[in-house]
Amino acid sequence: MPTAPSREEMLQAVEEKAARYGVHTSLSAPGAAYLVWQSVFECRVVRSIRSEEETAKRVKGRPKGIAGRPTYTDLAGHPVEPPADPANSGRVELVKDGSLGEESCGDCVEGRKDCPVCEGQGGRQCARYVECETCHGGPDACWECNGTGHPRTRRARTTARPRPQGAEQRAACRRCKRADVACPTCLGQRERECVTCRAKGFVTCQTCKGAKRVRDEACGGTGLFTVWTEGAVIHTPDRDEVRRPAPLALKLRTDANGAWSGSRMTGVGEELPDYLEDAHRKAIVPRLAAKEREVRRHVTLRYLPLARVEVHADPDRVYYAFPGPAGIEVQGLPSKRRVAHLTALTSAALALVALVTVVAVFVVR
Ligand SMILES: [Zn+2]
Ligand SMILES: [Zn+2]
Ligand SMILES: [Zn+2]
Ligand SMILES: [Zn+2]
Ligand SMILES: [Zn+2]
Repeated sequence: MPTAPSREEMLQAVEEKAARYGVHTSLSAPGAAYLVWQSVFECRVVRSIRSEEETAKRVKGRPKGIAGRPTYTDLAGHPVEPPADPANSGRVELVKDGSLGEESCGDCVEGRKDCPVCEGQGGRQCARYVECETCHGGPDACWECNGTGHPRTRRARTTARPRPQGAEQRAACRRCKRADVACPTCLGQRERECVTCRAKGFVTCQTCKGAKRVRDEACGGTGLFTVWTEGAVIHTPDRDEVRRPAPLALKLRTDANGAWSGSRMTGVGEELPDYLEDAHRKAIVPRLAAKEREVRRHVTLRYLPLARVEVHADPDRVYYAFPGPAGIEVQGLPSKRRVAHLTALTSAALALVALVTVVAVFVVR
């Protein structure tokens, strides 16, 4: 594990970097530089939390695999290996010892029951003939025979009977055979064949197609239910994180290049690595206490020593120094003062542009 560079080593590296910007000053002199540690630090904790739940199950038929499932007597004490990676969820379903059984459906006979639509009749009775909807079976069925087939006048007319102006077209009567006297719908017969049963007198049930019995969907046509008490052991990931990130403008390689320190811990109460600063240690220790029902944990730590250095002779920059793969790296970022100055310059430039635009508009006019 590489040890963090000392304060003196960091200042020396900053001094060399400042010289390249043309700032030549000795940073070891009192008041020449102001250094604070702002180390980058990440701690990710993933725990696996175990819980159990018990459910009464009643499933139609004989579901596959139930008989082969492992059983338990004490669910809370039943050993189940948590997922190797606590970031994964897990669920193991068990059957309570002695709870597995079968119940007869009770609503059917061997999975079949009377058709609920026709009540086991296979269909329903239906009138063969229905009253004519035009003449309602009344005297208008036939003006000659009233639908009886016996005309009032003995002698059949040879010509059509005079019909009132605008009255509907009449038809030849099927009963008395007179022309132009009968209701055009029933042709003098007062009733018509039923279109539902086509004069058969019976309509077959569409649900059972006349079979009178249907499959009982409640039990899936098996006539039985399988019942048992299901116990599930559940592992749920629980995530926590503490981060002390680097300033956004800083370009830090995040790959493992030897400059970062990293650790992976799996035990509760495991010793924290020596490289941690006291502030980091203080931030994470309360987060690492054992949680209720915690059965596995992965703790990942990453750490990069980072020094922030202000140089008295160079107020426009802030220097950041950190160990890289080849010695200490230093990056100079614009200081707040510098940023404020640049912003003011930009505003002034924009104001100038606006002024020029106004002048230009006046010239065009
Ligand atoms: Zn039916
Ligand atoms: Zn009918
Ligand atoms: Zn009619
Ligand atoms: Zn008639
Ligand atoms: Zn049933």
